[in-house]
Amino acid sequence: MDEPAMATLLIVDDELQVRKLLETLLQYEGYHTHSVASGEEALALVAEQPPDLILLDIMMPGMDGYEVANHLKNDPATANIPIIMLSALSEPSARLSGLQTGAEEFISKPVERVELWLRVRNLLRLKTYGDQLKTHSLMLEQQLRERGSETAKMNVHDLARLDLENALRQAVTAGEFQLHYQPKRTVADGQVCGLEALLRWERPGYGAVSPAVFVPILEQLGLIVAVGRWVIEHTCQQIATWQRGAIGAIEVSVNVSGQQLIEGDLIADIRQCLADAGVAPQWLEVELTESSLMENIQHTISSLQRLRDMGVKIAIDDFGTGYSSLAYLRRFPLDTLKIDIAFIREVTTNPQDAAIARTIIELAHSLNLRAVAEGVETPAQLAFLKEAGCDQVQGYLFSRPLPVPELERLLLTTRGA
Ligand SMILES: [Mg+2]
Repeated sequence: MDEPAMATLLIVDDELQVRKLLETLLQYEGYHTHSVASGEEALALVAEQPPDLILLDIMMPGMDGYEVANHLKNDPATANIPIIMLSALSEPSARLSGLQTGAEEFISKPVERVELWLRVRNLLRLKTYGDQLKTHSLMLEQQLRERGSETAKMNVHDLARLDLENALRQAVTAGEFQLHYQPKRTVADGQVCGLEALLRWERPGYGAVSPAVFVPILEQLGLIVAVGRWVIEHTCQQIATWQRGAIGAIEVSVNVSGQQLIEGDLIADIRQCLADAGVAPQWLEVELTESSLMENIQHTISSLQRLRDMGVKIAIDDFGTGYSSLAYLRRFPLDTLKIDIAFIREVTTNPQDAAIARTIIELAHSLNLRAVAEGVETPAQLAFLKEAGCDQVQGYLFSRPLPVPELERLLLTTRGA
């Protein structure tokens, strides 16, 4: 799901240099920007031309960021505009006060380019989705108001969220999820060498909902453990079906949430699912994000070690934007590093991204890990990755994630059965 074309962002900061820097970074990412130097100007401009997102400095003379956010979030006309608070203060209390006003995100100064871009992009995606829900929610709000209940005080955002939560609970009970599979290819000979299983949800009456929207909610509702187990079970059965048929043996990776590792019995689930399907562990890989690995390091290392001893492969997903240090990386039992999509996007035009991608590939190889690049969309990106020694690639250049029948057709033609 892409953000709306040419989203307009409003930058509010009393410091000229910060405004200039943010304008440059965001315009470079293709956004329109407006900048103002005070909270008062910000409120006036928002009333006139509501932006798609606001970057709001906390410490400003006159009206500060908290006050501006309070105004905007308490006005139904502007409550849905996402706000990213900016602050040089790193204390958790500043962050909390910012979030309490209703701001969606918080970034510390000095602003880091990739973090800024990812947070802006993710929030805009959520807003697009929220806008889709608005009509439906307004209707619900009307119904509640008619009933005159306490809940009528809830705003549109809360209602849309509540509605989505209920739909997700229903999706879990009714088994509305599906898996699509995206092929990975070896850079050396272009052969399909594996697949990534990706969760899809077709919400009845709405159509496909982005996993970027529903997976975090499944996590917050504690439903990700059950859904994650279903993913593993379903994937193992699919691997077995392919092994018995014309497709043959193929490695499949599944995305695992940190919660499955900490709250669920991931190891027992995987062992059981592999045994039930009659699949050897070497055909399954689990992908964990860098940040989920860092949540409970000791427990994570010992769980992963047990999985690895069993023969299951382990990948770090979205590598490079999280917080793992090299010291930890060495202690995790790993097979694969997947370079975060943020570095691949402009790898051929941005020398910093190119340097980071090269470094991650070299790092992977020096630790005897394979390097996989996601989000490969152009021949130029592929040429760069080939030259840099990347092992595997995945992305729209070759194939989007496919439903099983389409994927099987692709595998049967390209694997030259
Ligand atoms: Mg992944």
